[in-house]
Amino acid sequence: MTSPRKTYIIANWKMNFTPGQASLYLQRLSNRVQTSRDLQVILAPSTISLQPLSLQINRRQFKLAAQNFYWRDFGPYTGETAISQIRSFVDYAIVGHSERRYLFHESEQDIAAKVAAAIRNGVTPILCIGETSFERKNGETKSAISAQLHEGLHDISAEDVDKVIIAYEPVWAISSTKNARPAKPADIADAQDLIRKQIARLYGKATAEKISVLYGGSVNADTAAGYLAIPGIDGLLVGDASLVGDSFCSIIEAAKRYQE
Ligand code: PEP
Repeated sequence: MTSPRKTYIIANWKMNFTPGQASLYLQRLSNRVQTSRDLQVILAPSTISLQPLSLQINRRQFKLAAQNFYWRDFGPYTGETAISQIRSFVDYAIVGHSERRYLFHESEQDIAAKVAAAIRNGVTPILCIGETSFERKNGETKSAISAQLHEGLHDISAEDVDKVIIAYEPVWAISSTKNARPAKPADIADAQDLIRKQIARLYGKATAEKISVLYGGSVNADTAAGYLAIPGIDGLLVGDASLVGDSFCSIIEAAKRYQE
């Protein structure tokens, strides 16, 4: 049975592609991909590419997401970009990605402030949460996910919470983690169940049914369909495999087949 919620396929290009390369990628993708009302394909390029791609992109076909931003709206913060400065280019923004948490030491407070800043600026935050390998080995998977969800949504009212997308990304299943390994569908199903139960406790059952939960660990053209078939999973946040047009197109095709 297909989900009543939209399916999202998100390309997180991370720190790859110049604006010229990003533009060429978008041009080729636009010629190959047909999307639908129920399938949202989102591209998350580096901040420097957001403005030029926003002029090129057909927003009925694809949307743009920021990979990062600072939570204040303006001020003396050298080197930072506020979501208020880029909100006209993007519809979505990734927040709390494990590379930001662990390489750039973003705290739960930073992440909560970014989720709130995105909402305040009319941008949909994609809040990434997930346990590390250490936490999983120590039986702390549930407490890690619950704590990140609780903290990340700290400043979000019941009225706004269904504007947030949650991406479950077990850190040990992401290609940038040493010795990364694929997550089992049963583990992802358990995590999405836990996420929805906690949303239900915090905001009510109807909200838990409405909110989109994506899988944000590694996928590729061969594994995407299997992950999309997990009940309650509404799409994929793709890293490495989104850098190659052919594999990203295959993932989008898998999502379309899943919807049929
Ligand atoms: C990610 O960083 O969210 C991710 C899924 O990366 P990769 O696909 O490269 O594992």
